Amino acid sequence: MKRQILVLGAGFGGLEVSTLLAERLVDHAEVTLIDQNDSFLFGFSKLDVLFRGSDPEKLRLPYARVLTRGVEFRQERILLSDPHRLHVRTDKSYYDPHVLVIALGADYDLAATPGLLEGGYEFYSLEGAERLRDQLTYFEGGAVVISVLGIPFKCPPAPYEGAMMLHDLLVERGLRDSSTIHVITPQPAPIPVSPEASMAVEAAMSARGIKYTRSSRVRSIDAATGVAHLKDHEEAFDLFIGVPVHKAPPVLVEAELTEDDGWVHVDPATLLTRYPRIYAIGDCVELGIPRAGVFAEAAARSAAEHIAVSITGGGAPPFRGKSQCYVEFGSGEVGRISIDFQPGVSNTATMEGPATEYADDKAQFATDRRRRWFGL
Ligand SMILES: Cc1cc2nc3c(=O)[nH]c(=O)nc-3n(C[C@H](O)[C@H](O)[C@H](O)COP(=O)(O)OP(=O)(O)OC[C@H]3O[C@@H](n4cnc5c(N)ncnc54)[C@H](O)[C@@H]3O)c2cc1C
Repeated sequence: MKRQILVLGAGFGGLEVSTLLAERLVDHAEVTLIDQNDSFLFGFSKLDVLFRGSDPEKLRLPYARVLTRGVEFRQERILLSDPHRLHVRTDKSYYDPHVLVIALGADYDLAATPGLLEGGYEFYSLEGAERLRDQLTYFEGGAVVISVLGIPFKCPPAPYEGAMMLHDLLVERGLRDSSTIHVITPQPAPIPVSPEASMAVEAAMSARGIKYTRSSRVRSIDAATGVAHLKDHEEAFDLFIGVPVHKAPPVLVEAELTEDDGWVHVDPATLLTRYPRIYAIGDCVELGIPRAGVFAEAAARSAAEHIAVSITGGGAPPFRGKSQCYVEFGSGEVGRISIDFQPGVSNTATMEGPATEYADDKAQFATDRRRRWFGL
């Protein structure tokens, strides 16, 4: 009899792990993939919606296409999972799989920063990117503050990509001279994992007149007075853009799958949680590496191998986060960062570019995944 494998969350991690398992275990297992949404959207598509006028409907990749890849997709909302009994309940059904893979990503906690909901903007959700895009059409110039409001957060380069692409937009509209852009972050460097990429981002911001303040955190904002409150000073703004505080999806907290730091922990070699046959990958996991789609995918590849050998026998190498990701510098230029993360062994990240040729590379990255996951 075929084993049942249940994958919770159809983002970067869930799509990759279910595709691999369906391919690898075609004679041994049935893979069911659950997500509350009916379609997938790349994280970086939000920058396209915000700055390139892309229509979100054309960027969405319908999960109905996943069916053709030998994975059964179900659009359901996961309500509760009981890790002790390996039991999962959704708004439509319940499951008792042989193996469970948790790939539920990270949620945003806008309320964690007082004033953000009332007086700020964000571009980390699609709705947020659309709202900010609309607001920017009315923007007549002034002080823009872009601030990282908590650590960890997805895609460390994204706030800087946003700042540099905003610079281009304001230049194009003739508003750059009457505007300031100030990036404030609690982190010690733009991309702490890569000193090389951090230096390139800092130099690029400086060349564009973008002010950068590190190791500093906005605690709250006051929309009425246009002031952001930091520990020891205030910052005036006309437009406040925050990278919201991130948190694990509540369903994982309720199931007591998270630890004191609020995230799911796993064995860094196998990606197995403290529960037998329950794996966790991607943004919901604290593994000491940046939250990024490429790392969710790398973890998916490793988890798939460990799951496959647990069913068919054999051994699998420990997880290694070897990946490439891209940083938009504006003006069509993109940097390519190559990261090799081996938990407890070493961590290197080098950057090539920025150059326009890496924009083609990034486009190819998306094309490959559209084809692989959706047959498009
Ligand atoms: C602006 C921006 C730019 C980015 N650029 C890049 C980039 O260039 N490169 C890169 O590698 N990464 C990038 N990222 C980060 C990347 O999008 C994430 O790190 C990645 O999506 C994480 O994958 P995941 O599988 O862990 O989670 P996700 O892709 O977030 O997937 C989680 C899924 O779980 C589902 N889910 C959650 N809770 C429930 C529930 N209760 N019931 C049912 N379903 C549920 C969600 O609907 C979602 O589909 C960017 C992110 C942003 C915001």
